Amino acid sequence: MVRCTISGNNKGGLISMTNTEIIEGKVKTLFSTSEPDKVLIQYEDKVTAGNGRKVDYPEGKGKVCMEISELLFKTLETYGISTHYIDTYPERIMSCKRCFIIPIEVVVRNIATGSIVRQTTIKEGRIFNWPLVEYYLKDDEKDDPLLTEDRIRLMGDYPLRDMEQTAREVNGILSKIFREIGLTLVDFKLEFGYDSEHNLLLADELSPDGMRLWKEGKSFDKDLFRRGEGDIVDAYKDILQKLRLSKP
Ligand code: 5GP
Repeated sequence: MVRCTISGNNKGGLISMTNTEIIEGKVKTLFSTSEPDKVLIQYEDKVTAGNGRKVDYPEGKGKVCMEISELLFKTLETYGISTHYIDTYPERIMSCKRCFIIPIEVVVRNIATGSIVRQTTIKEGRIFNWPLVEYYLKDDEKDDPLLTEDRIRLMGDYPLRDMEQTAREVNGILSKIFREIGLTLVDFKLEFGYDSEHNLLLADELSPDGMRLWKEGKSFDKDLFRRGEGDIVDAYKDILQKLRLSKP
């Protein structure tokens, strides 16, 4: 059984907890805590692409992804979007509300690129004036296939309309935030979960690992790693610094 002990938080208050690993994800590890409604998520210095087929361990990657996620979750909360974020701690640890994660990845697209171009006749770079909201099964073994609304209805009773509405709101907010630092939000992936009181929360991570950000034809996101074109940690740190200066 793997345990992690954390002492102290970023605000100077002292805590010390020993926590038990419950899930090891591709780039994050989830720990239970002594509080039933709280989990700890450790962001690893690790990046994967192609459903784990390409892997690297860049130093500083976990911290910068956690700090971008923290900033974006906190900003979204100020706009009334409920998220699982609670706090952050040293050692790349974020405390979050424990959620039942809905096994559907919600992807919002403002510009056509990536899988939509590979899988359809839609041309690279086409701008969607009405952003596309798509649903994918969260299942690495099945390679996260695209779902239809009928298939989702047969899978279970999932709050598709609420997820779509929140995804569109998040798109509007994040597009503006990134526009202010000179980046275009091309597309991104969201995950949702229910807390113990059945509130729908935005969950998982909000970092350039799960979004595409373009500036003058160049990528400032995980595509740098997918295509072997540059250092993602430097690119992500630059985004974090600009976001902090712009105080969204
Ligand atoms: P695409 O479907 O074009 O591969 O991805 C669309 C957007 O969703 C991209 O910004 C991509 O980073 C994000 N995305 C889709 N699936 C995943 C996933 O399983 N993990 C992460 N981190 N991002 C994803």
